[in-house]
Amino acid sequence: MKAKNDKAWFQSIDENFQDRYPLNEIIYRCPHSGELLEVRHDLDSLKSKSPAQWQELFAQRQMQAAGPFASGVWSKKEWVCPVVEDRHIVSMGEGRTPLFNAAALAQETGIRRLWVKLCGNSHTGSFKDLGMTVLVSMVRQMIADGKKIKAVACASTGDTSAALAAYCAAAGIPALVLLPKGKISTAQLIQPIANGALTLALDTDFDGCMKVVQELTESKEIYLANSMNSLRVEGQKTVAMEVVQQLDWRVPDWIIVPGGNLGNVSAIGKGLLEMHEVGLIDRLPRLVCAQAQEANPLFESYQRSFEDFAAKPANTTLATAIQIGDPVSVRKAIKVLKRLDGIVEQASEEELANACARADGHGLFTCPQTGVALAAFLKLVEKKEIKSQDEVVVISTAHGLKFTDFKVRYHEQDLPGIASRFANPPVEIPADVSIVRQKIDEHFG
Ligand SMILES: *Cc1c(COP(=O)(O)O)cnc(C)c1O
Repeated sequence: MKAKNDKAWFQSIDENFQDRYPLNEIIYRCPHSGELLEVRHDLDSLKSKSPAQWQELFAQRQMQAAGPFASGVWSKKEWVCPVVEDRHIVSMGEGRTPLFNAAALAQETGIRRLWVKLCGNSHTGSFKDLGMTVLVSMVRQMIADGKKIKAVACASTGDTSAALAAYCAAAGIPALVLLPKGKISTAQLIQPIANGALTLALDTDFDGCMKVVQELTESKEIYLANSMNSLRVEGQKTVAMEVVQQLDWRVPDWIIVPGGNLGNVSAIGKGLLEMHEVGLIDRLPRLVCAQAQEANPLFESYQRSFEDFAAKPANTTLATAIQIGDPVSVRKAIKVLKRLDGIVEQASEEELANACARADGHGLFTCPQTGVALAAFLKLVEKKEIKSQDEVVVISTAHGLKFTDFKVRYHEQDLPGIASRFANPPVEIPADVSIVRQKIDEHFG
């Protein structure tokens, strides 16, 4: 079936292949080139409203407390997935996350303004909810239309599985998750278990799980929920839309996002480019993808001006959600980074751990992946890429409460090879008021 007159469709990222596929078709790659598909929107239809009209419509919807528009994703429905009927939407109020004004950190680093977009303040604690609401809603509609789907499946470094399991449980759709055994946090492991997903812990790494799930989903009865499925990218691109909306449609100079499988950096870039094309924003920010040094294939490719890309096994990193050596969305990521004058920066284990603790000291509660982005921010300030007059947005991808083991060990100075510059361990003393007083005096002077 060809989608000719639709407002949105799947199309190969390879411009040589212009075939269109409807969004309810079970297809992830271009059958001719094997490249990933992406969702294309009829931009002329989006241009039928003026930028000011869109901005006003989004502002009106922002007021709604119930219904699909109460979601930050579905309030942008025309831009995300116009073909889903409202009655099939599976939403948990995702999006509309705070833009934290990190004024103290900005001042310390001599930068005009630093914002942290708290995508982890969400139902399952990460930005993965933004894409999953779109994907699971589409699945619910496909099932209602009579498509045979036995289960929805993903490989995960912990957060995709949590989101998939929660949205599927809410919709009454069976979920299957493949996790690398022993490589995700306890909080992330218990999420899909609690939500009733079939949880398989495989004796491999994320890349190994990804290979298995790609084979499983060759049978169309098992629907693929990884970001290789470009429906997810559409939900995630609303992060970029929300950021500029929260800045009253002002475009920051920089957006910095941690990258593993590279779906999210691609999504944010796509959102920016589409808003620019339709005229909602009048300029583009520079985009930074921040990788853990232990899992940095994109950083290495960037060092070679993106002339080639080589996957390589990821080493162990504290930033487990981005411990990925063979990123599925690499071509999409390189494409948007080139368009947005992008940079790829990397962070060592010590740099990411100290960046987390430093930000926490100013009231944040960061996950290690956000630590990678914050460390990249600090390094780019140091290198004078980011200038004192710049306005910077760091994308915080998950809630720190998912990563308490890491944070406890940091403050107990128990992370091998890492000097915890901002350690604040608990002080164990007898229950004696004079000793307590003495400690207080020592500490506060
Ligand atoms: C998934 C995830 C990422 C990486 O996103 P990609 O799309 O895989 O690059 C970063 N941080 C957290 C917390 C995640 O869950």
